[in-house]
Amino acid sequence: MALPVSFEFFPPKTPEGAEKLRVVRQQLYAQKPEFCSVTYGAGGSTQQGTFDTVGAILAEGVDAASHFSCIGATKASVREQLATLKAMGVKRLVALRGDLPSGYGIGGEFHYASDLVAFIRAETGRDFHIEVAAYPEVHPQAKSPESDLQAFATKVRAGADSAITQYFYNSDAYFHFVDEAHKLGVDAPVVPGIMPITSSTQLMRFSDACGAEIPRWIRLRLQAYGDDIASIKAFGLDVVTDLCDQLRNAGVPALHFYTMNQSVATLEIMKRLELG
Ligand code: FAD
Repeated sequence: MALPVSFEFFPPKTPEGAEKLRVVRQQLYAQKPEFCSVTYGAGGSTQQGTFDTVGAILAEGVDAASHFSCIGATKASVREQLATLKAMGVKRLVALRGDLPSGYGIGGEFHYASDLVAFIRAETGRDFHIEVAAYPEVHPQAKSPESDLQAFATKVRAGADSAITQYFYNSDAYFHFVDEAHKLGVDAPVVPGIMPITSSTQLMRFSDACGAEIPRWIRLRLQAYGDDIASIKAFGLDVVTDLCDQLRNAGVPALHFYTMNQSVATLEIMKRLELG
């Protein structure tokens, strides 16, 4: 069954990384993604790298989404960046609050992603398709699951077209989130974010930081594999393919892969699902 897919990259830090990503992109383009997105460092720390990578994707003839975080930003700086992105031909944004590294003051003229979405709509009308982040397992700083859901609804009502979720390995969390959003009258498509499992320590580190839960049975198995990378990858492919299959069978609108600038795991999952 055909299902739209999109791929997420981060801006490479070295010329070697940029070349490697160029090759990875070509391998993934064979799957005909709806778009590819590029992350953006908090406080604008990777802005040039993000814009360069977005520009490269557009030049390769693929639709590109620029992530755009507003924490610490001013209205003037956001206005300027929106003009740059528009001039580049960017039509999609992933509008985020972002996180500042500890030690930075909050500052800036935007408090939440909903402020950014409203500002983008007020400044640029319908020039951009705006995606926002959704958290089926609740954002780590949320006061409560209910307030986080309300915050999500506020972002959509401010003008977001669709959402991409934080990754999860428990599909019930996603289904429950979508049901609850519907009850609030929020019908924007919520696309599951899929994180292939290729390394145990990297996944544990990320998940602790972003509030994604690794179910106990997955965590214990990964720990038991220790340094046996081949077994971790084989297990990860089984788990994530099964997750994607459940989501597809439930009729999700698309799948968004957190590629971590790698193609092998994503391609293998798609092959097993007979996608692409
Ligand atoms: P918001 O939607 O503003 O929510 C942040 C917190 O504030 C939540 O706890 C929410 O419940 C609360 N909140 C929101 N509105 C209100 C309100 N009115 N009153 C009270 N509380 C409120 N980070 C990056 O730095 N760069 C990236 O490129 C990037 N890409 C991402 C892509 C996706 C798909 C996802 C899921 C996350 C991404 N992140 C990225 C991480 C993201 O920046 C962090 O999770 C950040 O902490 C929250 O950003 P947000 O846009 O979800 O914030």
